[in-house]
Amino acid sequence: MTFRVRFWGTRGSIPVALTAFDIRDKLARALVEASGRTFDSYEQAHAYASTELDFSITHTFGGHTPCVELDLGGPEYYVCDLGSGARPFGVHVLANQSRRPAVVNVFMSHVHWDHIMGFPFFGPAYVPGTTIRVHGCHDVIEQAFRLQQSAPCFPVDFDQLAAKIEFVRLEPDKPNVVGGLTVTPHLQLHSGDSYGFRFEKDGKSVVYSTDSEHKLENRAESESFAAFFRDADMVIFDAMYALAEAISVKADWGHSSNIVGVELCQMARAKHLVLFHHEPANDDATLEGLLKEARRFEELTRGEQALKVSAAYDGLELEP
Ligand SMILES: [Zn+2]
Ligand SMILES: [Zn+2]
Repeated sequence: MTFRVRFWGTRGSIPVALTAFDIRDKLARALVEASGRTFDSYEQAHAYASTELDFSITHTFGGHTPCVELDLGGPEYYVCDLGSGARPFGVHVLANQSRRPAVVNVFMSHVHWDHIMGFPFFGPAYVPGTTIRVHGCHDVIEQAFRLQQSAPCFPVDFDQLAAKIEFVRLEPDKPNVVGGLTVTPHLQLHSGDSYGFRFEKDGKSVVYSTDSEHKLENRAESESFAAFFRDADMVIFDAMYALAEAISVKADWGHSSNIVGVELCQMARAKHLVLFHHEPANDDATLEGLLKEARRFEELTRGEQALKVSAAYDGLELEP
């Protein structure tokens, strides 16, 4: 039984690349940490970097905008959102298929640009024989895909794509069976509406809940999300802001925070919270700080069951 979650894009709003300054900063910090040590080989140095250096020195939290694959180990592909992470995801699909046409099941939380911008660069869309089924609850999904791929904004019109592209409407709060998965969408508070998806397979559950603001003072709302996250093995959660920002200057911006993620997952008795949709203005050290803050808060407020807390980055793979 395979059920792997592979993060191809984890940044919110717009892709972010490391700058030359960032690289020099990471190198300088690594050299300070390693001063006095000697390494006889690349492997020794690599092992030291992998095990002893701080995460924010050796990694970077997502450059690409949202794209999260659910790998069921079968012949079909399953992916949430087609942000700029859809480009490397497409490269992976083509390499994996070695010329066999693919079937790709897409689940769209909503059609804000950061969630669709990768599709014009999604290689399999240009391969004859490919089937792409785009699932979602909005009635504007096809319109949004066509709009971003039309003149004068993009040179290849949507109608010129070689793949067979179907749009499938899902009903909120109803379990839908799509290939090897059961998926239940749930309406979220966000400009133009967004939907979270709860995926279930062989007794394991993964919730993908991004671009979603929570007003914890609204009891009915909190309880509806606690029910949606109930006992989930993994909750991928919109933690764009720090709590102080989320409830002050950025209230009503349609996003949530690391701390609210911990609180909702604790209410739901979920097992693993994965912070996601990182704010583009935050550097790696800031994001690592938000992760540590969420972990500290979880320890202080822990009930009978511990909640594991991670922060997503491009390239991360997890098993629920
Ligand atoms: Zn977004
Ligand atoms: Zn959005």
